[in-house]
Amino acid sequence: MVYDVVVIGGGPAGMMAAARAGERGARVLLVEKNNQLGVKLLATGHGRSNFTNMLADKKETVGVYGKNYKFLFSAFNKFGVQKTVEFFVGLGVAAKEEDRGRIFPKSDKAGDIRESLIKYLKKGGVEVWLNVEVKKIVAKDKKIEKIILANGQEIFSKNFIITTGGKSYPETGSSGDGYKWLKSLGHKIITLRPALTPIVLKEKIVKDLEGLSLKNIGINVYQNNKKIISRAGDIIFTADGLSGPAIIDLSERVGALLKAPIFIEIDFKPETEAAELEKKLQNDFHKDGRKIFKNYLAGLVAPKLMPVIIKLSGIDEKKQINAIAKPERQALIKALKEFTLEVKELKGFNKAMITAGGVDIKEVDPKTMRSRLYENLFLAGEILDLDGPTGGYNLQICWSTGFTAGDSAGL
Ligand SMILES: Cc1cc2nc3c(=O)[nH]c(=O)nc-3n(C[C@H](O)[C@H](O)[C@H](O)COP(=O)(O)OP(=O)(O)OC[C@H]3O[C@@H](n4cnc5c(N)ncnc54)[C@H](O)[C@@H]3O)c2cc1C
Repeated sequence: MVYDVVVIGGGPAGMMAAARAGERGARVLLVEKNNQLGVKLLATGHGRSNFTNMLADKKETVGVYGKNYKFLFSAFNKFGVQKTVEFFVGLGVAAKEEDRGRIFPKSDKAGDIRESLIKYLKKGGVEVWLNVEVKKIVAKDKKIEKIILANGQEIFSKNFIITTGGKSYPETGSSGDGYKWLKSLGHKIITLRPALTPIVLKEKIVKDLEGLSLKNIGINVYQNNKKIISRAGDIIFTADGLSGPAIIDLSERVGALLKAPIFIEIDFKPETEAAELEKKLQNDFHKDGRKIFKNYLAGLVAPKLMPVIIKLSGIDEKKQINAIAKPERQALIKALKEFTLEVKELKGFNKAMITAGGVDIKEVDPKTMRSRLYENLFLAGEILDLDGPTGGYNLQICWSTGFTAGDSAGL
C-alpha cells in the first residue's frame, strides 16, 4: 500500500498536518512512537495549554520570533491566531484570554486541545499508529522513497511530513531523531540550544529561597559592569537557581553571554526608587523606633526572604530600628534593590521548554513548508529553526506550519 502522506511524530504540529491533509482527501498515516498522541502538549501551560497568543501574528509584535520571523508570514496568513482560535472553538474547545494576550481553553485542560485534534484526525480519516518508532528515512533521486520502522517494516508514501519536534524534555518523546535524519539527507541543522530554561546560579544562598515566588520583580542582567538586560516580571527560586516566566524568557540571551561572568541583579522593590526607599526607612526608623529590625522587616518582605535580607544587610535582627546606623541602612537598601547572583549555566535540554536552532529555514519554502532539497518532503513545528518566547507563541508555530504542510502535501 502506498499512502498519499505519511506524517512522522504525533505532537501538535504532526496532528495538525495529518488531519489537514486527511481533510483534503489524502490517504494519511500518522506514526507516533509513544503509546499516545501529544504527550508534550499535555504538559503545556502547566497542564492548562497556553495554546496561542493574540499578539503572535501581529505585525508590531511578530519580531518576538527573532531574526527568522519573516518566514512565518505566509503560514500566519493561511492559519493565524484568529483562525486557530476559531478552529479549536469549532471543535468544541471554548477559549479564554488571560493577561498579555495568552489564550487557554476555558476548561484549563490541555487534554481538551488534544482531544479536539484527535476528533479532527478522525474527521480526516487519518490512520494513526502508536508505539511505532521510525528508525530510518530512505531517499532516492531527490525524493523520499520510504521510511523504515524499528521492527524493520517499510512504509511507502507519495509525500512525507516530518514533525518530530525538538530535543528538549526527551521523556515526552522528543529525542531529536528528525535532526539526525535530515542532516544525513543533506539538510543544514542550525546549532541546537536549550531555550526557555531555568537558570542555575553559583551562590548556594538560593537554596534557602527555594519555592519563593515573586510577582512583578525587577531583573537586571550585567556583564563587565554593563547593564545588558532590564525587565520586570514573575520569578521563582529553585533549589539551584531561578525560574519563572521572566527568567525563562531571558534565558536564551543569558546563555549566549555565558563566555564571560554574568550577573543577575534582583530588585525586590522595583516600584520604589532607592532614594525614596531610603527616605521611607529613615521615617519609619524614626517613627516606630522601638520596633526590632526583624519585626519591621516582616512588613517589608516575604517571610522566606527575611533571613537572607538580614544576613546581607549585616543588621542584628534584634536591633531596635532607631539604632540602625546609616551604613547598615544602605546595606539594607542594597540587599533589597540589588540582590546580585552570578550565573553558572542554563539548565540543559532536560528542562528546556523548547529547542532553539533546527532545520535551516532557508532550505524550506515558507508558503508550503516543502523542503527545497526533496520535492515530496515537508517539515513543520519545533524541528524548524523557529522559536518564540513563553505565552503561547511556540504552539502557534506548530498550528500555522503544521496546517500549511498538511494543506500543501500533494495528493
Ligand atoms: C513543560 C513545557 C511546557 C510548555 N508550555 C507551552 C505553552 O504553554 N505554550 C506554548 O506555546 N508552548 C509550550 N511549550 C512548547 C511546546 O510544547 C512545543 O513547542 C511543541 O510541543 C512542539 O510541537 P511539535 O509537534 O513540533 O513537537 P513535539 O510536541 O515534540 O512532538 C513530536 C512528536 O514526535 C514523536 N517522535 C519523535 N521521534 C520519533 C520517531 N523516531 N518515531 C516516531 N515518533 C517520533 C515524539 O514522540 C513526539 O510525540 C511547552 C514545552 C514544555 C516542555
